[in-house]
Amino acid sequence: MSNPWIDELWRAGIIAAVALLLGLVFGQPWLWLLLAVSAYLGWHLRNLARLVEWLRVGRRFHPPESSGIWDEVFQQIYRLQQRNRQRKRKLGSMLNRFQQATAAMPDATVVLTPGDEIEWWNQAAERLLGLSYPRDTGQRISNLLRHPAFVEYLARGDYAQPLEMPSPADEHVGLSIRIVPYGNNQRLLIARDISRIQRLEQMRRDFVANVSHELRTPLTVLAGYLETLDGDAEEADGDWRHALPVLRQQTERMQRIVEDLLMLSRLETDSGQGGQEPVSVPAMLAVICDDARRLSDDKRHEVLLEADPELWLRGNDHELRSLFSNLIFNAVRYTPAGGRIRVRWYQEGGQAVCAVSDTGIGIAPQHIPRLTERFYRIDVGRSRQSGGTGLGLAIVKHVLLRHQGELGIQSEPGKGSTFSARFPAGRVVRVAGQARAAE
Ligand code: ADP
Repeated sequence: MSNPWIDELWRAGIIAAVALLLGLVFGQPWLWLLLAVSAYLGWHLRNLARLVEWLRVGRRFHPPESSGIWDEVFQQIYRLQQRNRQRKRKLGSMLNRFQQATAAMPDATVVLTPGDEIEWWNQAAERLLGLSYPRDTGQRISNLLRHPAFVEYLARGDYAQPLEMPSPADEHVGLSIRIVPYGNNQRLLIARDISRIQRLEQMRRDFVANVSHELRTPLTVLAGYLETLDGDAEEADGDWRHALPVLRQQTERMQRIVEDLLMLSRLETDSGQGGQEPVSVPAMLAVICDDARRLSDDKRHEVLLEADPELWLRGNDHELRSLFSNLIFNAVRYTPAGGRIRVRWYQEGGQAVCAVSDTGIGIAPQHIPRLTERFYRIDVGRSRQSGGTGLGLAIVKHVLLRHQGELGIQSEPGKGSTFSARFPAGRVVRVAGQARAAE
């Protein structure tokens, strides 16, 4: 392909040469040259005007016919436009395919603007969230999903954990809602139907509660008979004399497991938030520490209590007692004879803390994250021997959850452990001296 610039230079040169020649023949060569340059400039201006007109009118038309450098300019712009158009078509079809895929997803997907207005949603969102087109376009999402838990979740800005709530379209449908920030301050709301999982979870809870409940009565009967037989153990012959204490021990163990399982299912099913009555934790800890000394018995642990006497807690008396007893009795059970157990109850940065430290066997770091799982024991033999059910820390976790608290575990194998239960400042009650005296 010839270079358009060379053609153009040729054209300008020829025009100048012809003008000069005519000027020499007819006289006044400068005038002829001026005329020729003006005509050449006029041609350029005309092409520029055609270019502007072509761009203004629209890109759909073919470029105007021209020659030389202008033809090149028109063709290049035309090619650029064609390429752009192709890219746009490709992007458009990609976007279409993406939208079709999202629309077909079983999870509800809603695109939110930075101001939390609804921009786009798929079909599942109509079914699960009750959105309707075009009524809800541009509406704020919190106007449509009014559940207080959702409004708080949206405002909190921390979306690491999904939120579970009933569907606004059908309260029997449970949803797991997640918000994913993306792009320029935009957010994607994704809602999944988790009714099936919730139903299974409910079935599991009911099953455990029913089994525990059914086992309770026969075990009580068994324990009662064993107790009456206990008096005769002395007179019983060899085999029975050995068997009776074992039977009693094992029945007591089963009773403890059943009681703990029932406590756990109550904690799981009762939707209340751990109660609000003011509880005298210092008095409660004093009683539990006395029990701990009794449990320690001939192991002669040193049980120390340092409690802030004015620090009370708003919560559920029964649940808190279970929480503290589990922590303190564990310390006794997993600390060798003569060890020291220190129970502290104090306020730190507004929060109330119960820290139970022992000089016991300690826990290796890999076990710590799993300790609150049901029946998770590091040493099954030791746990059983010391009368553990494997459910104590699971109960602790649930009670804390219901009191918006959290459990901290620090431990070093062979040196000892510190279990600390932290309660939020909102649950702290400060009682003055007189109130205590009246107690
Ligand atoms: P268990 O009834 O077996 O004590 P828990 O749920 O109370 O069940 O505790 C789970 C496991 O955590 C225990 O089996 C034990 O291995 C470990 N553990 C709990 N408290 C302590 C402690 N103070 N020191 C060492 N290990 C502990």
